[in-house]
Amino acid sequence: MLDFLGDLKRTHMCGALRASDAGKRAVLMGWVNRRRDLGSIVFIDLRDRTGVTQVVVNRELNAPAHDKAGLLRNEFVIAVIGKVKQRDRDTVNKNIPTGEVELVVEELRLLNESKQPPFLPGETVLPNEEMRLKYRYLDLRRDAMQFNIEMRHKVSKAIRDYLCGEGFFEIETPFMTRSTPEGARDYLVPSRVQPGSFYALPQSPQMFKQILMISGFDKYFQIVRCFRDEDFRADRQAEFTQIDLEMSYPQTDTVWAVVEGFLTAAFKAAGHDINPPFPRMSYDEAVRRCGNDKPDMRLPAMVDVREAMTPEELDEFSAKFKIRKEFPVQLIRIPKAGDISGTERRTIGTYGAYQHVQGPSFVQLMTDPKRFAKDYPAISEKVVKFAGVEADDLWLLAAAKAEGADQSVQHFCEKCGFLRLDLAQKYAAKHKAFEKTGDPATDFRFLWVSDFPMFEWDKNEKRWNPAHHPFTTLHEEDMAKLEANIESVHDPKSPLGEIRALAYDVVLNGTELGSGSIRIHRQDIQRKIFQALGMSDEEARARFGFFLEALEYGTPPHGGIALGLDRIVMILAGADSLREVIPFPKTARAVDLMVDAPTPVSDGQLKELGIKVTKRD
Ligand code: ASP
Repeated sequence: MLDFLGDLKRTHMCGALRASDAGKRAVLMGWVNRRRDLGSIVFIDLRDRTGVTQVVVNRELNAPAHDKAGLLRNEFVIAVIGKVKQRDRDTVNKNIPTGEVELVVEELRLLNESKQPPFLPGETVLPNEEMRLKYRYLDLRRDAMQFNIEMRHKVSKAIRDYLCGEGFFEIETPFMTRSTPEGARDYLVPSRVQPGSFYALPQSPQMFKQILMISGFDKYFQIVRCFRDEDFRADRQAEFTQIDLEMSYPQTDTVWAVVEGFLTAAFKAAGHDINPPFPRMSYDEAVRRCGNDKPDMRLPAMVDVREAMTPEELDEFSAKFKIRKEFPVQLIRIPKAGDISGTERRTIGTYGAYQHVQGPSFVQLMTDPKRFAKDYPAISEKVVKFAGVEADDLWLLAAAKAEGADQSVQHFCEKCGFLRLDLAQKYAAKHKAFEKTGDPATDFRFLWVSDFPMFEWDKNEKRWNPAHHPFTTLHEEDMAKLEANIESVHDPKSPLGEIRALAYDVVLNGTELGSGSIRIHRQDIQRKIFQALGMSDEEARARFGFFLEALEYGTPPHGGIALGLDRIVMILAGADSLREVIPFPKTARAVDLMVDAPTPVSDGQLKELGIKVTKRD
């Protein structure tokens, strides 16, 4: 019953034909998106990745083709040969680009049948995600997924073209390698030849890209898969794609210019003109003004209004509100959300991340500006003016309680930052800053955050750890501080916490798109960093020996960055999950529902690998 393709060649894609093609012969191939049987006439919407064309099979004109059309069902694959006909004015379909024409069939070849699909790619109602992932090939046939995957292709290509144009070489690095320094859990691959030994899948090509600089390639990039075995976190994938790059002799702004260049190209590929250079902020400033290290620039920053007050006013204010005047007094402002009820006002701070994520409150809130203005007219007026509060803004003051727990200014600012974001979420419909306007300047607010701390205190392990990875270099001016505190890895109060790294993140609308750093290229400094991290020479050698050795053979100064491609495409496609822009994604539990992986393997395979599986309780 099925026909062969034979030597039939396609002349047009299903989205191509226009009124100007009327009269031409055309050969189209694709899936039956929909079939309408009106008796003597059968209409078929024929679909491929470019669109849909209406195909008409008329019994009077062509009885054999009409008979065959009667057999067609959704998702059958056919080829049609026919003549392009301009549709009558009243039958034009304005919703599709091919809507002015139809193909009148002379020959129809049935190339393949389809079982009744569990859901139809042409339907707008979506099945649940499990079903979509199990039958991913059907899901990918849907318009929206075709759009997203095409967007991914265009964005990758734009980035690749840009970087190649800037003299970067695309160089592959191994997947079967050894543990890399990103600090997440590794995926391991057992070696058959050396039972009991394992490769690790790379969490990033970090050491290889640095070695490529030692190898003289000067500028490297790769759009590369990375693997991290992390516990469930919303919108993470076990394997994900990074735009990874490294260059020799850069300053931070050399790397930034490259990133700004390829992001401009990527956004252009999606139809948006962004305008670098991006604004810049130090980590300290970001925490102080926005309460986190990835400020959402669509919202006003917090303002420390102590500066607006005279010392006497600050004394009066801190005594009255029982707050610590050495801590910032943060004015948090949500534009255009001033008009809320008294109850709403009183419940500010009782919901969201502010209340729950950061432990018991030591923050004193002043959420009634009217009352404040009545009680303290002079201070109120100054504060409002200083922070640029508009008449219809919602605003409040947050300060540290005098008798609160012993908290750091940083922790206080972070807590205020959560409140700023909670309020912005709650009143999003009023301030509208999260809505797309079509103007890239307001829709895409980029930011560079730099000068991250070099070390972060690990509460559980009670020690300092690298905040980025241990190959990140520090500010030259902070070198003396490192040397003076090189033996203080277990001291939570150590000034190690003040040392700034030449590390940076690129942030978009409050999400981190990527991070990188200038690296340590000198053996002596690398050794000091390991020492400060409490890592003995032997331990460092055991983990990174080959790399440390490579550093000894004339390593040029170098630095780089890696950005998450999946997230960038997600933003550009307007999708709300990474799974919408990854062709074959995994679930939150790292399961591929289509191929059904992971799976147990045979006893024979295990034996060959010298592996025994024990049950975990
Ligand atoms: N390897 C780092 C990461 O994956 C990026 C970099 O430092 O270039 O976060």
